Amino acid sequence: MLQHAASGLRARFTFDSVGGFGWVFSKSYVIRSIDPGDSAGAVTWREEYAGRGIGRRLYLLAATLHPSTRWRLQGGLTEFAAPLRARLHGADPYRWEAPCDWCNERAIAWRGAAPHDFGAHPITPAPPAITPTLVKVS
Ligand SMILES: [Zn+2]
Repeated sequence: MLQHAASGLRARFTFDSVGGFGWVFSKSYVIRSIDPGDSAGAVTWREEYAGRGIGRRLYLLAATLHPSTRWRLQGGLTEFAAPLRARLHGADPYRWEAPCDWCNERAIAWRGAAPHDFGAHPITPAPPAITPTLVKVS
């Protein structure tokens, strides 16, 4: 489990026993906080942090820690996870599963696909982090 210290956003990364696949559970409000100062595991209002790149940083950190894992989808995508998964897939389609028109048009079954199946896939590099937005408090 990884947790962003400032926002409390967190995600749990689970690995399949076979196949080299992993999957992400990122409903912060269900996962108990690992912050020792947050014994109640306070609910995080994820809308407040949507689009700020925090989730992507958590996902990319997990991917860095587990470089041979391919990250499959597990269940449906929330309105917050869908754009993130699309960006991750667009940057590295072999590594990250996501709904994708390009893959669908070519009938690529992501889990059984090899790296060369994505050789002509359009790549949109995702920045590793988003420049922080300063919030002015009066
Ligand atoms: Zn694709």
